[in-house]
Amino acid sequence: MNQSKKILISGASIAGPALAFWLSRYGDKVTLIERSKTFRTGGQNVDIEGLGHEVVRMMGLEEKIEAKNTREKGVEFLSGSGKPIARLPKGAAGSLTSSYEILRGDLARVLYDETRDDCDYRLGTSITGLSQRDDGVSVTFNDGSSETFDLVVSAEGVGSSTRQLVMEDDIRFRYLGVYACYFRIPRRPEDKDWAQIYHGKGGSFMLLRPVHDGDTTVLVTFRRKQFDTSDVDGVAQRKMLRDALQGAGGPADRILANLDHDPDFYLGPMSQVISSTWSKGRFVLTGDAAWCPSAYTGQGTPLALIGAYILAGELKKQSTHTAAFASYDRLMRPFIASGRTVRPSLIRLLHPKTRLGIGVLRIVEKALSSAFAQFVFRRFGGGDDEASPNGLTLPKYERP
Ligand SMILES: Cc1cc2nc3c(=O)[nH]c(=O)nc-3n(C[C@H](O)[C@H](O)[C@H](O)COP(=O)(O)OP(=O)(O)OC[C@H]3O[C@@H](n4cnc5c(N)ncnc54)[C@H](O)[C@@H]3O)c2cc1C
Repeated sequence: MNQSKKILISGASIAGPALAFWLSRYGDKVTLIERSKTFRTGGQNVDIEGLGHEVVRMMGLEEKIEAKNTREKGVEFLSGSGKPIARLPKGAAGSLTSSYEILRGDLARVLYDETRDDCDYRLGTSITGLSQRDDGVSVTFNDGSSETFDLVVSAEGVGSSTRQLVMEDDIRFRYLGVYACYFRIPRRPEDKDWAQIYHGKGGSFMLLRPVHDGDTTVLVTFRRKQFDTSDVDGVAQRKMLRDALQGAGGPADRILANLDHDPDFYLGPMSQVISSTWSKGRFVLTGDAAWCPSAYTGQGTPLALIGAYILAGELKKQSTHTAAFASYDRLMRPFIASGRTVRPSLIRLLHPKTRLGIGVLRIVEKALSSAFAQFVFRRFGGGDDEASPNGLTLPKYERP
């Protein structure tokens, strides 16, 4: 499609600005709206290894991303008294720490800085109504104004409300039985350049990670049978976290004492999004709104970057948006299928409820970090090509 289009993208985290990057360079007129009134800075480290990194390289953003590297040295496992009992340095088998350690908020900021001069960003804005015609989509916003676009994209993440407006019947969720919470707490002198993992009493998982300013980031996950949709306001969310960390030990009290330190406090159920189609008429989904694999897979961000590259590339290449959405769907599915397996046993393993279960897990962590286990992993752990696991490769498009 060589004709310039007027495109609305809703959601300014990773998928939205990454799509805006490509579309604006292909000559489209892009408006990007974000529900939050301020730019969202929250989140811990996100993974961009493999083909996600390949997309970053094509975008020419490697250096800017490297400048934001958290320089984390590896991961430490803590004992019941909070002392390190084992370490997995960066690059070791089973280590969380990769070569490209960047915070979600820093990556979003890099993408925003790359696109804000060419796109119309509107914070504090969301879609309240949407009606499709043969020649365009008429959108009503939360301030009561209306505007017509050629195409509308939801990059609103796992809980996308515009997706509910347009495609409610096409979407299923797979709740993984766990809630996750991300926010920042003040850094302390004893915080090191190592991520620290602590298994709390009662079945909670706490991960503290270094950043390059005066803070430490926190991830807490805890099991919960029911997915409670009423937990939407900050008060109920904080209470839920307090209940989960009550008497959990280790860094739990420090975390609870700093619940109000970070305005971008995030707590939500870990769910996967399953959909047999990602588009309806002139409306299309991308990123977590389309296929959220959950943070357990580490694939949310690379898939958002890959999806943005392919959706923009197909819109440029195909003669109609209908053909572009169909080939985007066909080309993207194998990447999603290869990156979304989460075994319930992994979730149970990471959240032992009994003292015995926690003790066994700490023995496993010690064993994993031993020189012998690392030798065995390196020798027999398989040799997936880092840039292309499962042999998948990115389609090639004419460079904008
Ligand atoms: C604050 C935050 C922290 C996160 N932290 C981590 C982390 O530490 N580790 C990890 O693996 N993943 C994290 N994630 C998820 C991760 O960003 C995604 O899995 C992945 O990068 C795909 O991103 P996405 O842009 O598709 O969706 P998301 O990152 O979920 O972004 C969706 C964006 O849309 C906005 N939005 C939602 N609803 C509307 C609406 N109705 N109208 C307009 N805008 C809307 C949201 O405010 C958000 O900015 C976090 C997400 C957020 C929003």
